[in-house]
Amino acid sequence: MGKKLTKRSEDYSKWYNELVVKADLAENSGVRGCMVIKPYGYAIWEKMQAALDKKFKETGHENAYFPLLIPKSYLSKEASHVEGFAKECAVVTHYRLKNAEDGSGIIVDEDAKLEEELIIRPTSETIIWDTYRKWIQSYRDLPLLINQWANVVRWEMRTRLFLRTAEFLWQEGHTAHATEKEAIEEAEQMMDVYADFAENHMAVPVIKGVKTESERFAGAVETYCIEALMQDGKALQAGTSHFLGQNFAKAFDVKFASKEGKQEYVWATSWGVSTRLMGALVMTHSDDNGLVLPPKLAPIQVVIVPIYKGLDQLDAISKKVDPLVKELRAKGISVKYDDRDTYKPGFKFNEYELKGVPVRLAIGQRDMENGTYEVARRDTLEKETVPMDEVIAKIEFLMEDMQKNIFNKALDYRKEHITEVDSYGEFKKVLEEKGGFISAHWDGTVATEDRIKEETKATIRCIPIEGDTTPGHCMVTGDPSARRVLFAKAY
Ligand code: AMP
Repeated sequence: MGKKLTKRSEDYSKWYNELVVKADLAENSGVRGCMVIKPYGYAIWEKMQAALDKKFKETGHENAYFPLLIPKSYLSKEASHVEGFAKECAVVTHYRLKNAEDGSGIIVDEDAKLEEELIIRPTSETIIWDTYRKWIQSYRDLPLLINQWANVVRWEMRTRLFLRTAEFLWQEGHTAHATEKEAIEEAEQMMDVYADFAENHMAVPVIKGVKTESERFAGAVETYCIEALMQDGKALQAGTSHFLGQNFAKAFDVKFASKEGKQEYVWATSWGVSTRLMGALVMTHSDDNGLVLPPKLAPIQVVIVPIYKGLDQLDAISKKVDPLVKELRAKGISVKYDDRDTYKPGFKFNEYELKGVPVRLAIGQRDMENGTYEVARRDTLEKETVPMDEVIAKIEFLMEDMQKNIFNKALDYRKEHITEVDSYGEFKKVLEEKGGFISAHWDGTVATEDRIKEETKATIRCIPIEGDTTPGHCMVTGDPSARRVLFAKAY
């Protein structure tokens, strides 16, 4: 398994990259910015998908699948959308390779040039709205509530495993509505769904808000978001939900006959979360020993490690452990009994600590004699000896307690890292020395926002939905400010 992890306090960024690789979550591939998600990482993503998918279906959505390749002309139909995404689009120009005549290898066959170039979807609004035109004729066809699980490609310049990759996995919801009000309610609902998932499954506290004009999704009228705070004081946009107005309906000519028989443009939303959430999970809870996973998303919730000399002892332990494993599984708790003979218990302990398995049981000769297990919890690293007949209750308690404990720990950190400031000088000082969110007055202009970004690298993360709405004066220009907004340096 190699040497210890770099400490967070030494180099947070290095700690993160090492941890993602050593905990077997993902690794870089031969293509810059494209990662291989390994089975252990993918198992966590699958748990996220399952929980989210359930919530989407409970709120009336169905899954479908739209193609990876989009005709280039579709993208240009919505002006601000193309402007936002053109800079990071991968384009397919040819459909065939051939052997070079000089024997130098495989080259693009220029005779196989596509008549219309195709782009690899950076997001699917355009192809989906081109399809919705055929699906929507009357108010009876609305609302249309669809989600897809897919991969997308955005040619990102500065990439980092999970947090920002060139290809990422995500879900994208695309809905169509008869009224503006209904579409806004949908966009707000999906922000709430994301916040609920982040807090109750990932144990990551988030702030709900709306983006400023310059941070808004290209093509949206309003972008709702959830913002999380990482342990190094940097913010992370964890999910977005867009109210698209009638922009895409107009660009793709999607109209419906209203109850009154009038032809009207459809109202739209789109919303997505990606494998970036994996990065949020790692950065929020993990420590210098490795991952700390919330029980609800841990692929292995309990690991049992036998400590023995010789196969007779192992046999006796296995007989003891077997009914416990069955009983835990029957309760829906995922258990691994690691009786591998090829590794020592100390090695296994380190490995499961690194992988963030919430509960570790160890059982040796003395436990066999006393009828006990040694129970260790990953979040606090506390150990205690528990009688065998109480161990299931203990595990059930720990599943809930750890989920709450890591959430509260992250919440406390965030509370300590929201600072209210009233001057630009103070703003820069807090940003430099403490980090975190800074709540400050801003005059509402793009120019001031740009200047702050240029001078400090901090951006407006959101205009929080809940929070101080008292008017004041911009910390930079002194001009009137409608309310405080949240700034931070962000991933
Ligand atoms: P957007 O379509 O830009 O609103 O993004 C939808 C979701 O994908 C948001 O939750 C983003 O945080 C996430 N996301 C955007 N770009 C990337 C990227 N390069 N890698 C991973 N996740 C991303």
